[in-house]
Amino acid sequence: MSIVPESERPNPYSAYGAHGSVLVLNSGSSSLKYQLVNPVGGEAIAAGTIERIGEAGDAKGIVTHTYGGNRTRREADVPDHGEALRIALGLFDEIGPRLSDAGIYAVGHRVVHGGAEFSGPVVVDDDVVDRIESLVPLAPLHNPANVQGIRVARELLGDVPHVAVFDTAFFQALPAEAYTYAIDREVAAAHDVRRYGFHGTSHQYVAGKVARVLGRRVQDLHTIVLHLGNGASASAVKGGVPIDTSMGLTPLEGLVMGTRSGDVDPAVVFHLARNAGMDIDELDTLLNKRSGVLGLSGVNDFRELRRLIDDGDEDAALAFDVYVHRLKKYVGAYAALLGRVDVVAFTAGVGENDAAVRAAVCEGLEGLGIAVDPERNAARGGERIVSPDWTSTLVMVVPTMEELAIARQCVEAVEHLSPASAVTSG
Ligand code: AMP
Repeated sequence: MSIVPESERPNPYSAYGAHGSVLVLNSGSSSLKYQLVNPVGGEAIAAGTIERIGEAGDAKGIVTHTYGGNRTRREADVPDHGEALRIALGLFDEIGPRLSDAGIYAVGHRVVHGGAEFSGPVVVDDDVVDRIESLVPLAPLHNPANVQGIRVARELLGDVPHVAVFDTAFFQALPAEAYTYAIDREVAAAHDVRRYGFHGTSHQYVAGKVARVLGRRVQDLHTIVLHLGNGASASAVKGGVPIDTSMGLTPLEGLVMGTRSGDVDPAVVFHLARNAGMDIDELDTLLNKRSGVLGLSGVNDFRELRRLIDDGDEDAALAFDVYVHRLKKYVGAYAALLGRVDVVAFTAGVGENDAAVRAAVCEGLEGLGIAVDPERNAARGGERIVSPDWTSTLVMVVPTMEELAIARQCVEAVEHLSPASAVTSG
């Protein structure tokens, strides 16, 4: 298999921009990120972030807006998400592009947790907002901000459809044996305790993109996707359908991440509660914010980790080894589940940029038909193959474009298009 040049690939999304661009909103607990996206080619027409929303005291919010190659940065009072969105809309008017000129077709909202309710994008109405709100117990840090973002955006941009795109939706197709925890089934059922998976938009996009760039049908490929950003997750995708993923009830399970532990024995929690006197909130903070690469080395950015390793820092070297060891275990496990691996695709900040991580994960996996070619692995660029010609499995780097994927899902939800037919026709 080899990469089909872009000019020779049919673009199944060529009609998606007929009605205009999509404003994609990602509301975090204290931030709002936005991007105005062309759903055909995927370029961000304009993008911005508003951070430190609702900070106590005199702290100001930090606002950035990028358009036409120019980045504007300023401070502002941003007490809540409503004000954040008003500021963003003001920047479109002031700096550009004016949304009336850009022709917004829809607003896409990234929603973290769709529970077992949502297996695809949905056009938002009052009932959908209520249902997303009812899932707050599953995602207490994320869904409230998502709901607030949707409410405010519907108020301020009432003329266009709003679409909710869920991080969990792709993984609603997981088989029961992959999403079921082996705990008392009545307790699990009463409290919706099961694996949901996250980063689904990215895993789905990358698995589809792999097929497109290779000129193959996604139905014919067995792919392991490694989404390695500050959060990190792996998935095994068989014929376009996920059969396992590393994140669970929440994004804490699985791989070692920037600040999250990933898999630990759950008894670590009981042990620390009993012996360190830590309460639930402290344990939550420990495992989500003070663990992972940060907890082991003091830094969570892989560029800083590399500098520490090069300076001989032993904690940093161990953090790297623990990170890679966990990844290798998942690659091996997913190879076993898939039976045959056609492609291992690295994506997101670390996966796309850190050649040392890719090399270390694939080192010693020749027996599984997985290897990287040092020269190809060191090269930079867009979608690329980094394995040597002799391997049975391709190792690829495929940049993820979550905003583009959200924008396309918006078009599909509004136009009632089948995403599968769109992805596989190319
Ligand atoms: P993401 O969550 O996908 O935006 O990824 C963010 C993470 O990617 C950062 O915390 C870094 O660890 C990593 N990263 C970004 N750029 C590079 C780079 N050039 N080399 C290595 N790691 C990088």
